[in-house]
Amino acid sequence: MKITLLPSSLGIDGAPTRQFLTSFLINDTVAIDAGSLGYWHRWQDQARVQHIFLSHSHMDHVASLPLLLENVYERGPGSVTVHGSDFVLDCLSRDMFNDRIWPNFIALSRPEDPFIQLSRLEAGKTVEVEGLRLTPVAVDHTIPTLGFVVEDATTAVVIVGDTGPTEEIWRVANALPNLRAVFLETSFPDALSGLATISRHLTPATFAQELRKLQRPVPVYVVHIKARYHEAVVREITALQLPDVHIAEGGRPYTFQ
Ligand SMILES: [Zn+2]
Ligand SMILES: [Zn+2]
Repeated sequence: MKITLLPSSLGIDGAPTRQFLTSFLINDTVAIDAGSLGYWHRWQDQARVQHIFLSHSHMDHVASLPLLLENVYERGPGSVTVHGSDFVLDCLSRDMFNDRIWPNFIALSRPEDPFIQLSRLEAGKTVEVEGLRLTPVAVDHTIPTLGFVVEDATTAVVIVGDTGPTEEIWRVANALPNLRAVFLETSFPDALSGLATISRHLTPATFAQELRKLQRPVPVYVVHIKARYHEAVVREITALQLPDVHIAEGGRPYTFQ
């Protein structure tokens, strides 16, 4: 299984890019979130993505979805399927594809010629696509948000999503015999723990507390570091000297088997 945290920007003179937006690409044809997916590479690469699973409706996770649909639209019965909770699907139809921000691609879609196909996610209900099994798990953010267990025949990876301190996904992760990696957010440095608490995100201190709930010796990749605080968060996480914790690099494919 190949997982890439897509880059959010082009970078300047080879300087490393920071994460403004969230999208994970899995094996080229499945994505979790569409923060930057529709701004990434060529339209032909975007068109390989058949399924997009949305963790929640915050802008940094859905910003490029309207452009992605435009980039990959082709007349005929095929289109990308967007999977989301009731809450997310309602946000897409009322707040994004509403003929104000963007044309109503949902209403314009006909079975023989869709722009988008919607599929409803329910926590705990596994969806099988493209040789993968994705199981959504509710996490604790300011709006209804799902983390995902992603599995193929031999491998399981957990992508936790935006969350403050949470429980259920660790119970699920600890029960996965083939767990190979976890992607976990750390948004703010510890000095902004008040902001992290009200926005239901993690800081290095609460990240470390979450890791204590994971009873499996697998690598953990840190994602969703707010660009402005990247250096401070990396410094604080490094100082914790946690084993097998890595800062995820945007654009780098991570392979697990
Ligand atoms: Zn969020
Ligand atoms: Zn976010």
